[in-house]
Amino acid sequence: MTAPALELVDLVMHFGAVRAVDGVSLTIQPGQVMALVGESGSGKSTVGRCVVRLLEPTAGTVRVAGPDITHLSRRRLRAHREDVSIVFQDPAGSLDPRMVVGDIVGEPLRLGGVSRRDRDERVRAELGRVGLRAEVARRFPHELSGGQRQRVSIARALISSPTLLVADEPTSALDVSVQAAVLNLLADLQRDLGFACLFITHDLSAVEYLADEIAVMYLGQLVEQGSRERVFAQPAHPYTQALLAAAPVADPSRQRARTRVLLGDDLPSALDPPSGCRFHTRCPLAFDRCLAEVPEPVDLGDGTAACHLVQPDGTGPDLRTTPTTARTERHA
Ligand code: SF4
Repeated sequence: MTAPALELVDLVMHFGAVRAVDGVSLTIQPGQVMALVGESGSGKSTVGRCVVRLLEPTAGTVRVAGPDITHLSRRRLRAHREDVSIVFQDPAGSLDPRMVVGDIVGEPLRLGGVSRRDRDERVRAELGRVGLRAEVARRFPHELSGGQRQRVSIARALISSPTLLVADEPTSALDVSVQAAVLNLLADLQRDLGFACLFITHDLSAVEYLADEIAVMYLGQLVEQGSRERVFAQPAHPYTQALLAAAPVADPSRQRARTRVLLGDDLPSALDPPSGCRFHTRCPLAFDRCLAEVPEPVDLGDGTAACHLVQPDGTGPDLRTTPTTARTERHA
């Protein structure tokens, strides 16, 4: 049986007293795209950095295409460099300004001992695949537009044919006008090359377009997982329902008919997360048990949801259709 492209088991990443990631487990099968969604500060980018070992996890296990890479030394990690790559949010910050594009894109091959001639050939091919002309190889990053720079980042990430790509908000630093083109490119490359992808984003329309599976994070923990179809059609966790209710809808009549769920206060601090269910300080449905008892993930058949009110058949209150307290309001 083929090993999963990524397996996280009880991943924990604490920065001193800050519990940024607190027991995240998820599995991505080869060729699948999993969207990791949540508000900024939920810990999703920290998960991505643990997966590529830019951070060494405090506890838990990271397996990429089989092997456990959680605590490998830098030297031994190099052997697994080709299995996993990352594309960051801001291409300007992630590309070395002193290197020309050809050297940036070819660097993973250089580190793998590939000759200059073979490198140049593969760099040209890779630039073509991401829609850039070969002459871009001689330019410096600052000579390119934001969209072109992100294409360079994608070329660099894919040149070693990774099993898994971590895409951390890959379009959110770009002009709106080029976001769709870069997303389309990622979707086409994923379909053609078949790599698995951990797609970190807060853009739910991109999730609907790209993802097979969705995992929802809140304050360092996963609150729901499941197929894109099920999570969009029947989100089980109140937080997922609130996120979906807040996402813009293209059809104005659908937008008007929706119940907007107001989550109220900002995300609580990961320094001192709320007791019991971490979402209880913002959940309109919270009751006594939520303050005292951490909800176990309920197996829904298609994924899980960690809420005391969710039943194993996925039924439970839906914030979007059940006005509850003063925190929900009907759009006029
Ligand atoms: Fe809301 Fe309680 Fe469910 Fe948490 S466990 S999401 S506070 S109802």
